[in-house]
Amino acid sequence: MNVAERLAEVRTAIHRACRDAGRDAAGVQLVAVSKTFEAEHIMPVIEAGQRLFGENRVQEAKGKWPALKARFPDTELHLIGPLQTNKAREALALFDVIHTVDRESLAATLAKEIARLEDRPPRLLIQVNTGEEPQKAGVIPEEADAFIARCRDEHKLAIEGLMCIPPVDEPVAPHFGLLAGIARRNGLKALSMGMSGDYEKAIALGATYVRVGSAIFGAR
Ligand SMILES: *Cc1c(COP(=O)(O)O)cnc(C)c1O
Repeated sequence: MNVAERLAEVRTAIHRACRDAGRDAAGVQLVAVSKTFEAEHIMPVIEAGQRLFGENRVQEAKGKWPALKARFPDTELHLIGPLQTNKAREALALFDVIHTVDRESLAATLAKEIARLEDRPPRLLIQVNTGEEPQKAGVIPEEADAFIARCRDEHKLAIEGLMCIPPVDEPVAPHFGLLAGIARRNGLKALSMGMSGDYEKAIALGATYVRVGSAIFGAR
């Protein structure tokens, strides 16, 4: 299969998962994760109609996306990897959506940088470390409500939703369910959860963004 065929398969599976869950397929957006792939591999996916893309490193995205965006202005770029505060300004210049707001210092820096933007501010999601893994970014679940409140009230950030990356060696459903519960009680609509191996389960549990890389682009 080529990338266009793999993309079509993923879209079909998303529609099927939405139907099975009794959800409107318009409520789930596919973010094609293009990290590690060069522009020449991304182009056919854009040409096949895909518009939302995810990258996990600011530096890498900076190398390939300005040219792609100039050519395809309606593409939308999502940052799905950790953001260092000293890269916040660059990230805001490149990305339409940031899924990885995960700590106070980053929230404060983003607020300051967004205030000096002339463009529309990016959409922001807070990353929750649902598995409380020490090596993983994200606020821990018990601190999520307070962090969401501080982002909104102190930093005046418009938070669209939450994102998680479950531990690799555990069933994903409890993590997706936990994230959905935190979003619900905080009145947040967007849920970024589900990757190549588990996006159908994530849709069943309420995902509004699924981040799918290898199922579209092939192995990295
Ligand atoms: C790489 C990555 C993905 C995509 O993973 P696949 O298993 O290739 O679909 C999704 N989310 C994040 C945060 C990633 O870093």
